[in-house]
Amino acid sequence: MADYDFDVLVIGSGPGGYVAAIRAAQLGLRTACVESRETLGGTCLNVGCIPSKAMLHASEYFDAASNGTFAKLGIKVTPELDLEAMHGQRLDAVKQLTGGIAFLFKKNKVEWLKGRGSFVDAHTVQVGDKTVTAKDIIIATGSSVTPLPGVEIDQKVVVDSTGALELAKVPEHLVVIGGGVIGLELGSVWRRLGAKVTCVEFLDQILPGFDGEIRKESNKIFKKQGIEFKLSTKVTGVTVKGDKATLTLEPAAGGDATTLEADCVLVSIGRRPNTDGLALDKAGLATNQRGQIEIGHRFETSVPGIWAIGDVVPGPMLAHKAEDEGIAVAENIAGLTGIVNHDVIPSVVYTWPEIAGVGLTEEAAKEKGEIKVGKFPMAGNSRAKTNHEPDGFVKIIADAKSDRVLGVWCIAVPAGTMIAQAAQAMEFGATSEDIAYTCHAHPTHSEAIKEAAMAVRGKAIHI
Ligand code: FAD
Ligand code: NAD
Repeated sequence: MADYDFDVLVIGSGPGGYVAAIRAAQLGLRTACVESRETLGGTCLNVGCIPSKAMLHASEYFDAASNGTFAKLGIKVTPELDLEAMHGQRLDAVKQLTGGIAFLFKKNKVEWLKGRGSFVDAHTVQVGDKTVTAKDIIIATGSSVTPLPGVEIDQKVVVDSTGALELAKVPEHLVVIGGGVIGLELGSVWRRLGAKVTCVEFLDQILPGFDGEIRKESNKIFKKQGIEFKLSTKVTGVTVKGDKATLTLEPAAGGDATTLEADCVLVSIGRRPNTDGLALDKAGLATNQRGQIEIGHRFETSVPGIWAIGDVVPGPMLAHKAEDEGIAVAENIAGLTGIVNHDVIPSVVYTWPEIAGVGLTEEAAKEKGEIKVGKFPMAGNSRAKTNHEPDGFVKIIADAKSDRVLGVWCIAVPAGTMIAQAAQAMEFGATSEDIAYTCHAHPTHSEAIKEAAMAVRGKAIHI
């Protein structure tokens, strides 16, 4: 056998890469991870999941103090925003968590090779002025913001998600381009802190990929909160003069253009895989039309010994999907059987209330066969009602014959936490009856999942 520097070399230390590296090391493989950022953890820990949730969490309290929620609970307060301190706690969360990965690398003896990696051949990677070899190489280089053609992101007036996390002052008018997850989460943050927010979405509804009814209901809730929407509208240009931007909007179906003024524009129209500078061709690899690296079900690429996971491969761009793939690919490399069930990957939008789903949408399930649907409103859930959180509902979609659960969708304040039980039930092949006859603690928001499951057979109690 050739004498390699490492058994496994991981390129990229996001949730896919760092988890793969730790699991490989746990399995006794000599492992290194190449990362070009100053800190480990990738998009997720540095400029994604974690800092966005830090701002969402803090702004949620500010909103509750300003919008009358606290007053309803008998708490009189007049909040004052200290944006610098809010940013401080965001940076602190990032520092602690990225530092935590460095600690885990040391603990598990994963070597961090600092610098950009590029292939020399299928078993060799150049990192700075060093060349390293490995028997197996995992590409986990993640994704970056998709640019809008002709629109320059200056991170002052026109920002991407990274810039939108760091704004030094609350904009007067923030225009969000794209009604996807990033636009709604970060739009919510700045709306809560006092900005007027307009969201321009190309499609006729926000949140592509989510269940149709959930998309409509979420839209209503965000409108009620004060976000303005321009659906079926495409942004075709942004010009900046001084500290103001003018956007050109066109109806998606064609027609006359209009303009919209803003002092801040967030471009959030999706993300694209990172493969630039990797010299994939030197390893014998190419990308597909969408710029992704194609893989088989074991996460193997077309070149033996090279594997790929996370945002750089087809599938939802989610941290937990990348993490699970990281564990599975390391196990496959070690000769075990690593599997990810891509049919059961939950999605969560961390707004107020949260929006979550797992499995098929009602539209997709109907296309596959006959279904039964059970729904339960959060207004009928005692805990949500007591907490003054009446918005939202839970919906369970089951196969009409076998009763097997095909999809679960919720809008509820803790929907992101509630969806875990649905994912677990589906992983175990549960029927709606299994969920309906599982004892749920009272009073909890999760009882709405039990009631929605009961509603599949028309047996909900509290409606
Ligand atoms: P990444 O996290 O993108 O990591 C890849 C790493 O590889 C990067 O650090 C990069 O510097 C490095 N790299 C790239 N090329 C090279 C190279 N040639 N050499 C060396 N290093 C290289 N997902 C969720 O599930 N929940 C959320 O709440 C959530 N919130 C998000 C909020 C925002 C604002 C954004 C932008 C994303 C969010 N995501 C969320 C998506 C999530 O961040 C990604 O799905 C996840 O980070 C993908 O993990 P990954 O390991 O594939 O890649
Ligand atoms: P997205 O794909 O979710 O939404 C982009 C939206 O922009 C789409 O609805 C699209 O129709 C619209 N659009 C595209 N071009 C447009 C134009 N010219 N004018 C108007 N609208 C236009 O993308 P995103 O919100 O940027 O998020 C990127 C990725 O990051 C997603 O895949 C998501 O999974 C991940 N992410 C996840 C979370 C989470 O899990 N909570 C949070 C943030 C980001």
